[in-house]
Amino acid sequence: MEYQPIGIMGGTFDPIHYGHLVTAEAARTEFNLEKVYFVPSGHPPHKVLQEVTNPEHRYLMTILSICTNPSFEGSRVEITRPGKSYAYDTVKFFKKLFPHNDLYFITGADAIKEILTWHRVDEILDMCYFVAATRPGYDLADLKKEELKALPHEYLERIVNLEVPAMAISSTDIRRRVRENKSIKYLLPEAVEQYIYKYKLYK
Ligand code: ATP
Ligand code: MG
Repeated sequence: MEYQPIGIMGGTFDPIHYGHLVTAEAARTEFNLEKVYFVPSGHPPHKVLQEVTNPEHRYLMTILSICTNPSFEGSRVEITRPGKSYAYDTVKFFKKLFPHNDLYFITGADAIKEILTWHRVDEILDMCYFVAATRPGYDLADLKKEELKALPHEYLERIVNLEVPAMAISSTDIRRRVRENKSIKYLLPEAVEQYIYKYKLYK
């Protein structure tokens, strides 16, 4: 029996937007992923100073966004785990769930840059591939030369590049637009847009 690889898309998803969704779909087709699990973070270790929206809101907006894609699933693993959300624990969880499948941890190239600062990054790279999606303003070739050159060669090989349609969408920009009463139409799924207004998020 052939096992297809599994994708893991981690993020704060505050809110989820088309940048995340296009990236996950591009990874799914490029690496023949059976499923992509969207994992909203519970207590992001890198965003301590900034206020993060209630995880239940972020999880529900994620579900609203992925429910039309049969290959996309939402996971509550980080939001139900107490303490800080470390990618290491999440990847280990999925490795246990899918011991025979390759795992692809999908992130934007900007997040990959922080890789060296991540908790137990060598052990993460033992368990999965990293997909570094291009995002406007980040050069993947430079990234490999500079930030990541401290990593051993066998780990560098586990970081694969993925070109996604250039999307300058970010959650930060969406939150700012809501605060300033600007339109967020076409930046994220309509259901998420309405959800944000219904619960008066980002005001
Ligand atoms: P914020 O502005 O609050 O940091 P964000 O838009 O970067 O939010 P996150 O939830 O932090 O969204 O991102 C989750 C993952 O998705 C990260 O790996 C990030 O690099 C990636 N990502 C975010 N936006 C895009 C985009 N437009 N294109 C490709 N990848 C993206
Ligand atoms: Mg971000």
